[in-house]
Amino acid sequence: MMNSDAAAKLLDRPTLVLNRSWHPVFTVPVRRAIVWLYRDIAHVVHESEYTLHDLQSWADLSRFLDKPALASPSIRLAVPDVVKMVRYNGMPRFRVAFTRRALFMRDKYRCQYCGASPGSKELTIDHIVPLSRGGRSCWENCVLACVSCNSKKGCRTPAEAGMTLLSEPREPKWSPLFNIAPTRVLDSWQNFVSEAYWNVILRD
Ligand SMILES: [Zn+2]
Repeated sequence: MMNSDAAAKLLDRPTLVLNRSWHPVFTVPVRRAIVWLYRDIAHVVHESEYTLHDLQSWADLSRFLDKPALASPSIRLAVPDVVKMVRYNGMPRFRVAFTRRALFMRDKYRCQYCGASPGSKELTIDHIVPLSRGGRSCWENCVLACVSCNSKKGCRTPAEAGMTLLSEPREPKWSPLFNIAPTRVLDSWQNFVSEAYWNVILRD
């Protein structure tokens, strides 16, 4: 039997919420996702099969899943990683704040000049048009650069330094992942927030 501390931790764990059109919109604590499941406001999404489950169906399936579970005398539920709203089809109109972490996420921890991924400690934020020459700190003028590309570029523009960017930097589209500490992001969510996710052929 799970002790109450462990159960409370599980209830606080984030669940990814998809709207009716399968678009990831935000995260909620597991405790809220479970309430929605009981009220038939949301259904659980099996994170690799993309099947949908109401309370009874999820309880049935939970017996076969190797996942942490919440148990009461009458029911045992595997903790859902992803739920899909039954009716809600909104899209949050959040903009992604220009922060260090969001920039690292947008550029996927890669130097935008040479493509290297040397780890966050070896990456710097490069102003494409240098600050000293009137460049601004914004999505369009900042990219990640490895230490060697950054020092090679110095106080020049990429054109002056003979360097090219891998892609044109833009403000990223909102994703629930920008809003949550990286340590709390579940691996299983990657299926729902990656480009590949949008190319999955859905069956009823
Ligand atoms: Zn580089």
